[in-house]
Amino acid sequence: MPSAEPHPPPAGARPARLLTQNREMRAIGVWNWTLPAWAGRLPDGRTYNTCPSAGVCARVCYARHGTYTWPQVRAKHHANLQFVLDDLPGWERAMTAELGARRFRGTWIRVHDSGDFFSDAYLGSWLRIIRARWAVNFYAYTKEIARFRAMVEPDPPDNFLWVYSYGGTQDSDLDPAVDRVADVFPDEDAIAAAGWHSQEANDLLAVLGPRLVGIPANRIPHFLKRLAGRTFRTWQQEVDAERTTRAKASGHRRGLRLLPGGNTTAHPMPDGQAADRQDQAA
Ligand code: SF4
Repeated sequence: MPSAEPHPPPAGARPARLLTQNREMRAIGVWNWTLPAWAGRLPDGRTYNTCPSAGVCARVCYARHGTYTWPQVRAKHHANLQFVLDDLPGWERAMTAELGARRFRGTWIRVHDSGDFFSDAYLGSWLRIIRARWAVNFYAYTKEIARFRAMVEPDPPDNFLWVYSYGGTQDSDLDPAVDRVADVFPDEDAIAAAGWHSQEANDLLAVLGPRLVGIPANRIPHFLKRLAGRTFRTWQQEVDAERTTRAKASGHRRGLRLLPGGNTTAHPMPDGQAADRQDQAA
């Protein structure tokens, strides 16, 4: 369930408040910052992608369904993103100032109800905000694994916790034996059967509970049908494997085409070599 101001700002206007709470988050004392999910178009015509590392998750994205698509909710999320894109330093100042209010002391902020840390500059802004507001706690789910490995892991702020979530194009860089990871399962029984730990009772368990975090899939019939009993992790593995197979086949065909003289009866490039080239280009 998304959060929105009762009267969203007119198109192009800056939101009066940056942090909001929905019923679920209010119950556990968490505030949200939200961007529009994945790819779309702003009212001024600009296109965006706030989840550049989204994989299969985008095919069943909870934030592109139901109340998230209501015009006033979408307008609020667009206004948030426009502020970030048009004036990142100004947005950083506004967020830092808002978080200075007494009511946020000791509370938790979930960075992104939807959307992700879509650029180095944006993540850099968040890291400065989090360090400046050391009396507030922050957490996030993210699929921006390489960006976090480079920019956060070497020196994480004490008041920031995160969990890497499966279903993205960088899944293969995760190590569930070491990393804190979250996966979406068909239901609670599937989470328990896998020996993972559900965060359903309280979203903060994603960062404060055991390291293998299970999320039960939203009960949206056509999304459950697409999930087809898999988890995001296994679904993404299937998609990655298919892509690798296609890339190898395409590299094999290119190997034939690239032979000098257009002699299609000649031997193709060795399988491994062609596939390597294709993988590098992907
Ligand atoms: S990362 Fe989250 S918000 Fe973005 S497309 Fe995937 S499920 Fe949706």
